[in-house]
Amino acid sequence: MGKNERHKKRMVHKKEVVDSGIAKANRTKGLLLVLTGNGKGKSTSAFGMVGRALGHGMKVGVCQFIKSRTDTGEEAFFGRDPNVEWHVLGDGFTWDTQDRTQDIATSKKGWAIARKMLQSTDYDLVVLDELTYLLNYQYLDSEQVLQHIQSRPAMQHVIVTGRGASDALTSLADTVAEIADIKHAYKSGIKAQKGVDL
Ligand code: ATP
Ligand code: MG
Repeated sequence: MGKNERHKKRMVHKKEVVDSGIAKANRTKGLLLVLTGNGKGKSTSAFGMVGRALGHGMKVGVCQFIKSRTDTGEEAFFGRDPNVEWHVLGDGFTWDTQDRTQDIATSKKGWAIARKMLQSTDYDLVVLDELTYLLNYQYLDSEQVLQHIQSRPAMQHVIVTGRGASDALTSLADTVAEIADIKHAYKSGIKAQKGVDL
């Protein structure tokens, strides 16, 4: 058998496998997606899905925890879309605030806004950017937060990003991806740049 014929045979088989997989995945539901790991691309992946959702005319809510900067490209771009509600809910990184009591108060205020989104059928997609830190530092009660996520509207999608996603969070999730840190320019002395990091 020639190379071309072998390729065709392999592709016929592959198509059968793919088609049968697609046929089996026939349900829809609101998903919980968790994007974790030490590599770059968790938040930007979430914002990629924001773009997809908006392209379909869906309504999106974004809650950015931890970070306080409001000059990011993603906010400037998506924030002006009438179908997006964008909240920057952080006070800065934990090593900047250095104040656990303040971090807890900020986190609770932020979560109240996120929770309203999780209780409303107005949002088709809710992004909880950097939420894992609030759970890992116990600024928020993890059980309660997971309960609020779990009891959201049935067709609402939620994306949680941040390093070190807990087992409790990943167990609840439908899709979990871990981005590995193979290399990062920052480590060779390159500072955060517009269009790439902010
Ligand atoms: P991004 O927002 O670029 O998708 P991320 O959400 O995966 O990154 P964060 O930990 O939230 O990762 O990153 C915050 C900032 O730190 C971003 O500017 C990002 O480019 C940078 N960063 C991400 N991963 C690394 C890394 N492994 N080493 C150094 N800097 C990183
Ligand atoms: Mg991020």
